[in-house]
Amino acid sequence: MNMGQNLPLQYYPAEILRQQSTDISLEEIAKPEFAQLISDMEETMEANDGIGLAAPQIGQSINLAIIKTEDGMLPLINPKITRRSLTTESMEEGCLSIPKVYGDVRRPKVIRVSSLDLQGNKTKFTAKGMLARVIQHEVDHLNGVLFIDKAKSINQGQDILEKLALKG
Ligand code: ZN
Repeated sequence: MNMGQNLPLQYYPAEILRQQSTDISLEEIAKPEFAQLISDMEETMEANDGIGLAAPQIGQSINLAIIKTEDGMLPLINPKITRRSLTTESMEEGCLSIPKVYGDVRRPKVIRVSSLDLQGNKTKFTAKGMLARVIQHEVDHLNGVLFIDKAKSINQGQDILEKLALKG
């Protein structure tokens, strides 16, 4: 695999950020181009100091996201959140596609996730805390949903948001 390349980001209100992404086939997962794409997304996430990145943010409407964890990069391929805890918590979020805007979003604390790994095998795991939050944020991206849709308050950048909304 070649070194990852820092790809240009898509910024709100880009249309692609509102599209429903499509599932990736096992044939696609097996291609070297797919491994390269993940490598490029990792480089892009690192270059922008992100903790997660979804494919629509680099211009691809496919169900792929990567998450930065303590154990390294976690790829999520065709991820589904299959269970959500009734207990929720509110935390401040931001997004690489909406720079300088931050707001409080309430989300379930614990989730059950079903996804494919890099070999195309089905994996299931439970996530809580920060990991659960980032996964929910990224899965929202794959469904065309942004954190500003769910934020009960925008703590920073309301003015930026209003100017951008006029362009969209
Ligand atoms: Zn985001």
